Amino acid sequence: MPMSMTQPFIDNSGEKDYQTKIQQIATTLSNWQGPIVLISHVDPDGDAVGSSLALKRALAALGKETKLPLVPPRFLEFLVQENELSPELKVLPDNCLLVVLDAADEARAVGAPLSSAAFTINVDHHGTNTRFGDIACVQPSRAATAQMVKDIIDASRTTWTAEIATPCLTGIITDTGNFRFGNTSPDVLADASELIAKGVAYAELVDQLQIRHPDYFRMLGKVMSTIEFPLNGLVAMARITGEMRDEIGPSDDDSDDYVGLIRYAEGTQLAIFLKDRGDHTKVSVRSRGKVSAQAICLELGGGGHVAAAGATVQADLGETRRRALAAAKKELLRQGFKLD
Ligand code: AMP
Ligand code: MN
Ligand code: MN
Repeated sequence: MPMSMTQPFIDNSGEKDYQTKIQQIATTLSNWQGPIVLISHVDPDGDAVGSSLALKRALAALGKETKLPLVPPRFLEFLVQENELSPELKVLPDNCLLVVLDAADEARAVGAPLSSAAFTINVDHHGTNTRFGDIACVQPSRAATAQMVKDIIDASRTTWTAEIATPCLTGIITDTGNFRFGNTSPDVLADASELIAKGVAYAELVDQLQIRHPDYFRMLGKVMSTIEFPLNGLVAMARITGEMRDEIGPSDDDSDDYVGLIRYAEGTQLAIFLKDRGDHTKVSVRSRGKVSAQAICLELGGGGHVAAAGATVQADLGETRRRALAAAKKELLRQGFKLD
């Protein structure tokens, strides 16, 4: 196969180091005698929930004592079995191994304090990851942390079951936008194929993953009435205000979907979604082509991937909108777009 057919997808730099680290992580987990606590990032998405559920189930199958302090969003609750999750841990148990999944830095990791762990393993695919922990395995060429969890489970003695494969596949499905985003490489599809072969009820899973509470659709109507196309129509922008939330209720747990939808407005290079959260504003940015959502969010104090990034801005919605547009303008000019 000509190189050009595979090269745009796969960055193989550091692949050997990556495989070594995956093996090291699998061995450390298998040999660990104390409790193992798994945590992921604030506002957990399908990758955070899926990666941690898959690894917890694989470790439980090895007889490990595990804890998963996690509050999943409503649309992912169906993945969770009874008594599988713990409340937030204020202190870590003695001799605890902490695994942090899909979290770019320590401040974004929630569920337990990081400081008192006997050993910390950081598994993530964000290029902006700070490489914290005793083992930091960061591989931005992977579409989802769930792909890295699959590699860890493959490297361990665990026997795959549908219960382990289903959340693992969920992380891959959600972080690739149902295999539609540019991170959908041949490796992603091969991993998905392998996981489905473990007995995942694929059609049921993808159907269930799209189901939302009726309030989500009521909120969607309001969100779409806020749409605007600033910066010569190169940006699609929408918002959730405090007033909208008072009216509909706290149903906006999936702004990922809203920003993903407006990203398809013809002629746009960027989608920006603003969520008023009282004392701060959550910004979600999605981009296409060379335009970097990551560069914009780094400017706003956040981070993420080139095509999908986020930031939490300590300012009201109006001020955050102004800063986000200034950062977007800078990035669009850097990429050679002409603006008035
Ligand atoms: P979101 O818009 O929250 O769905 O985030 C898009 C991507 O950027 C996800 O991979 C997030 O994990 C990541 N991300 C969001 N906010 C931040 C932040 N403040 N710092 C680093 N990464 C972030
Ligand atoms: Mn995530
Ligand atoms: Mn992820």
